[in-house]
Order: sequence, then C-alpha cells, then structure tokens
Amino acid sequence: MVKKYFCDYCGTRFAYSPEAWRRHVRGVAHVRARAEHYRQLSSPRELLRSEQARRPCRRRSEPGGCLFGDSCVFSHLSQEELARLRAAVAEVAPSLRPVEVTLSPGQVAEWG
Ligand SMILES: [Zn+2]
Ligand SMILES: [Zn+2]
Repeated sequence: MVKKYFCDYCGTRFAYSPEAWRRHVRGVAHVRARAEHYRQLSSPRELLRSEQARRPCRRRSEPGGCLFGDSCVFSHLSQEELARLRAAVAEVAPSLRPVEVTLSPGQVAEWG
C-alpha cells in the first residue's frame, strides 16, 4: 500500500515523502487554505485589533528570530501580513459566500 499524506486544510492527498510535504506546504493553494482555516477560527476583526494594539517585535527580524513565538507580547505580523489582515476584515462576511458541501453517496440516497 502506498502511503499518502492527507492535508486537512486543503483536503488533498499527496505522496508520503519529505520533499512532497515541503513542496505542498509551500504551495499557494495550501498557504491560502491554511490562512482561511485560521481566519474562520478567530474573527479577523479581533485579530487585527489586537495586532494593531501591539508594537512590532524587533527580535523577530534578528537572526534566529524571536524566542517567544506566538506568546510574544509584541506583534509578529509583517507589514504584508497586516495588510492582508486588513483586506480580510474589509471583505464580505464569510457567511455570505457560497458554501461547498460534499455529500457521500449514502447521504444523497437518503435524501432522495
Ligand atoms: Zn495543504
Ligand atoms: Zn517577539
């Protein structure tokens, strides 16, 4: 049996190898799906507010980065990420978008 990775974010399968994994997580589709996943977890509006209230972390740009990671009191978002977050907040509410639903053949039969 061929081993495959399954990516929860993208809902896709790909070869079970470090190279394939690396290629996948760097892919545009994955980055987008992952961002979307986190966007749904916490409201972008709240996230933007908390990030804007914090000063940018100076250690983050140093070699080795900031040791505090996600628990740092300073903001770790780059200007680009902050701009993307602002754009996300300005976007239409997620509930107004078409939702894609996948049904299994069994469910379809049940509902006639
Ligand atoms: Zn993925
Ligand atoms: Zn930091």
